[in-house]
Amino acid sequence: MEQTKKILICGGGIAGPACAWWLSRYGYSVVLVEKAGALRDGGQNVDVKGAAQQVIKRMGLTEQVEARDTLECGQKWLDAASKVVAVFPKGSIGGLTCDFEILRGDFARILFDATRGTCDYRFGTSVSGVEEIENGVRATFANGTAEDFALVICADGVSSPTRDLALAAETRMRYLGAYMAFFNIPRRPEDDFWACSVNGIGGTMINLRPGGLTHTTVLMTFPAAEPGLRSPTTPSPREMLRAALVGRGKVADRIIAELDAVQDVYFGPMSQVQASTWSKGRLVLLGDAAHCPTPFTGKGTALALVGAYVLAGEIKRCATHTQAFEAYERILRPYAERSQQELSPRLIRLMHVRTRFGIAIAHLLQRCFGSALIQSLLQANATSKARRIDEDFTLPIY
Ligand SMILES: Cc1cc2nc3c(=O)[nH]c(=O)nc-3n(C[C@H](O)[C@H](O)[C@H](O)COP(=O)(O)OP(=O)(O)OC[C@H]3O[C@@H](n4cnc5c(N)ncnc54)[C@H](O)[C@@H]3O)c2cc1C
Repeated sequence: MEQTKKILICGGGIAGPACAWWLSRYGYSVVLVEKAGALRDGGQNVDVKGAAQQVIKRMGLTEQVEARDTLECGQKWLDAASKVVAVFPKGSIGGLTCDFEILRGDFARILFDATRGTCDYRFGTSVSGVEEIENGVRATFANGTAEDFALVICADGVSSPTRDLALAAETRMRYLGAYMAFFNIPRRPEDDFWACSVNGIGGTMINLRPGGLTHTTVLMTFPAAEPGLRSPTTPSPREMLRAALVGRGKVADRIIAELDAVQDVYFGPMSQVQASTWSKGRLVLLGDAAHCPTPFTGKGTALALVGAYVLAGEIKRCATHTQAFEAYERILRPYAERSQQELSPRLIRLMHVRTRFGIAIAHLLQRCFGSALIQSLLQANATSKARRIDEDFTLPIY
């Protein structure tokens, strides 16, 4: 597509700025609107896996990302009394810690710094309407002003209000049966560089992970009724969190003691976005707005980066936006769907064991998989597995 075009990106999370980086590099003029009044640099540990590492390398950002590594050295499973059940050092098969461990906020900041000089960031605004016009699309902003663009890219996250302006009927949310919350608590002297994971009664799963010098990050997930099925007396997020923590052991007690002071909680149902098409006219979906796999897969950020690379590349390569959007979806959809298929409501149920008996079985399995013997057997397969991971997606060259 001609490079004289002006492109609007909605959403300044991960996918939006990454796509802005590539589009600016290809010579397009990019306006990026973010609903929040400033960069949302919150969030906990995100994994940058597989092909996404290549995208970061091609952006020349590898050193910056490595410099912000959380230095997590592996995962320990603990019981309710915080006694170690099993240990998975970094590099173990089945462990939580991957090659690049970075806090989402640090990563968002790296992308923002890499794009703020080349694209027009507008904070504290969002798009309230889109209308196709001849050779373009007219976007109306929340303050009532309107502006014309060649394309609109919706990168405004899992609940994407901009997606709903055009593709609400084509999109469904697949609820996986659990809620999730991410937030920070103050770091304690005894906190080390291990991720600590606990299975609690009632299905609550908690992970404490290193989050820098001053805080420890909390990721917790717990089974709950589907959002739409919950009653008007539904408890508030904090009430739900508290209820999921009470009586769940030492780590949970520590979180309860800190909960009132926690400011910023990323909280919501664990739902995947399934859209039957990713574009309509001149509007296209990107990142979680198109195919959120849920943070539980550890693939959302990787998909956002790879998607941004492919979408920008196809916009540059193709003669028309229709061809570009078709090619982008054809190339990326199988990868996104594979990532989503890694999770199912059944698997989520199995992972969130509810009873003491279930937890005892989970501990047995954790011990078994963490043992030197099983790890060495699994590692024997690792070469072919590693190859498969590297080949999870072949990045086109643009
Ligand atoms: C504050 C925050 C914390 C997160 N923490 C974690 C975490 O700890 N672990 C994890 O795995 N994933 C986390 N995520 C999700 C993770 O960032 C995404 O799954 C993934 O990186 C894909 O990125 P994305 O850019 O598609 O979506 P997101 O990173 O969700 O970014 C979407 C952006 O769009 C903005 N936005 C929303 N509505 C509008 C609108 N109408 N107009 C303009 N902008 C809008 C949002 O404020 C946000 O900045 C978090 C997301 C956010 C926003």
